Amino acid sequence: MMISCSDSRVAPEITCNAKPGEIFVHRNIGNIVWPGDWNIGAFLEYGIDYLHIDTLAICGHEGCGAMNTRSSSLRG
Ligand SMILES: [Zn+2]
Repeated sequence: MMISCSDSRVAPEITCNAKPGEIFVHRNIGNIVWPGDWNIGAFLEYGIDYLHIDTLAICGHEGCGAMNTRSSSLRG
């Protein structure tokens, strides 16, 4: 299973040379995992408890707009 950015340039199946249905993917802006995020919590629970997946990859990418925006806002 993979947590990936929502950016349309990121295609987990292509990156992993996988077929549709082979990777359980959660996507959000900047592939961010916030403590208390129920959406990611449900994704992880379903993947681990029901699909019995034992591997998680978090896939960032070069030129991520979310990370660039976040860096700019932290600089003030
Ligand atoms: Zn991104």
